[in-house]
Amino acid sequence: MAEIQEEAIVNENGLNFIEQEIKADLEAGKNGGRLNTRFPPEPNGYLHIGHAKAFIMDFGAAEKFGGTCNLRFDDTNPQKEDTEYVEAIKRDIHWLGYDWGDRLYYASDYFPQLFELAKRMIREGKAYIDEQTSEEIAAQKGTPTEPGINSPYRDRPVEENLDLFERMNKGEFEEGAMVLRAKIDMANSNMHFRDPIMYRIIKTPHWRTGDTWKVYPMYDFAHGQSDYFEGVTHSICTLEFVPHRPLYEYFVKELADESYCPRQIEFNRLNLTYTVMSKRKLLQLVKEGLVAGWDDPRMPTICGLRRRGYTPSSIKDFINRIGYTKYEALNHIELLEHSVREDLNKTATRVSAVRNPVKLILTNYPEGQTEMMEMDNNPENLAEGKHQMPFSRELWIEREDFMENPPKKFFRMSPDKEVRLKGAYIVKCTGLKKDEEGNIVEIYATYDPESRSGLPGADRKVKGTLHWVSVPTAVQVEVRDYDRLFAVENPSAEEGDFRDLLNPDSLIVSKNVMIEPWLAERVKAGDHYQFQRLGYYTVDPDTTPDHIVFNKTIGLKDTWAKEMKKL
Ligand code: ATP
Ligand code: MG
Repeated sequence: MAEIQEEAIVNENGLNFIEQEIKADLEAGKNGGRLNTRFPPEPNGYLHIGHAKAFIMDFGAAEKFGGTCNLRFDDTNPQKEDTEYVEAIKRDIHWLGYDWGDRLYYASDYFPQLFELAKRMIREGKAYIDEQTSEEIAAQKGTPTEPGINSPYRDRPVEENLDLFERMNKGEFEEGAMVLRAKIDMANSNMHFRDPIMYRIIKTPHWRTGDTWKVYPMYDFAHGQSDYFEGVTHSICTLEFVPHRPLYEYFVKELADESYCPRQIEFNRLNLTYTVMSKRKLLQLVKEGLVAGWDDPRMPTICGLRRRGYTPSSIKDFINRIGYTKYEALNHIELLEHSVREDLNKTATRVSAVRNPVKLILTNYPEGQTEMMEMDNNPENLAEGKHQMPFSRELWIEREDFMENPPKKFFRMSPDKEVRLKGAYIVKCTGLKKDEEGNIVEIYATYDPESRSGLPGADRKVKGTLHWVSVPTAVQVEVRDYDRLFAVENPSAEEGDFRDLLNPDSLIVSKNVMIEPWLAERVKAGDHYQFQRLGYYTVDPDTTPDHIVFNKTIGLKDTWAKEMKKL
């Protein structure tokens, strides 16, 4: 887990190891040459980027090889599940560009078949009702090197097992009073074979089936069977299911034959630096108000990334870069950031915004005059044209772009030095005004009328170029800047409470940011812009006509590309 893996592992045809397996199965004519994958989220939380890695594989392989992919909600635990999550999951998969068509399923659809199969296994002496407590059952499990102990209920007569199972489901017994266990082998070296639990009693009503059922199947009994009922051929999941695979095959054999049998293939989970990926922990952050919700732009959830300004193509690009392997890894969040930066660099319109404004007054510029300056919408793609930006005697510039007593290498504005105002004129600072506390409140400068952008006088060499916004037409907006959610690289590897590792400075809100009017007129939630010199910003859905809000998606500086060059 400590190792850091960045390179995708694909063969000469660009296929990862799972796709190679699929291709081989198809060529061998298995399952009648059919490919059917499935994505099986449990609706107990929102999807995160790790899930995206999983469903990009599931839907992607189906697309690549002309197969189909089912969306199946693994709704086998009514205590934790909710329709809010179902809707959010569908929305997020669609947003990434995938669709299940008419292949929307629920594990709860199979409760009747699963119940019948369980009864058949009881009749065939392959399952029994155990009345021990979960502690007793756990204590008898043994260890990988020591065999377990048979339950005293293991040889209960079939009729009694059947009767108890039916009565369990009628609600005659309390939760935890008894379970249905598969009768396999308490000495097996695979711990999952030591009489695994198939069914437990849960009395919470189910959001789809109401109180029809009082017994619910465990993952291992439900999953492979659901795959079978749906005609799934390749059941792709993460590496922690490797030791479950023999049990998957054991249960599936109860149903399948040579003509059709689903198969499980495992790949490495996505783990990202500076974040956590467990749904339980993410839920805790939301429930305890440590973030603003599932879609908080600092969250690794798909809706959080969307709100932050990540694009579907940047997420897919990242997943493609990290690839699918058979060993655990920890991926750098900088690589994800690199993907979105590259994407937005191509597409985001360049605009002017001043994050920490101070007033610059051009003392020789006529009062009341306005000139319209032409600004490129995207110098990376000139076909995107230009827009106009008003210029006047009073401008907002960044406070950090001025220094009264600058060090040698400071090329921005300081007394008696010339700097260029982007797309406008060259100006020279002539003075400043401070308040009683010594804070600079106004900076004065003169402009050179001959230096207007586009005129020969503009060609003069000037070291610094500043962005600016004209005061009379500026629109004040709110900007939310984000940093890593966690202060440590691998929060899941640390001892103690993960909540203590949160980065206290992960959100900085600036309510006095000035933007140019052209931008203010067209903001629409979800649109991406590059604020010149500041970074990529995305319009937040909280935006109203009177209160515009931007989220910082990512800065301009690509530390990742720099690191890669060093290698
Ligand atoms: P938990 O966080 O409690 O372990 P889960 O993430 O396994 O839950 P599911 O809804 O069961 O939640 O996941 C659906 C699918 O997504 C599973 O097939 C699972 O293997 C896959 N998946 C979950 N997390 C990741 C991850 N970090 N990287 C890749 N795939 C993942
Ligand atoms: Mg799971």
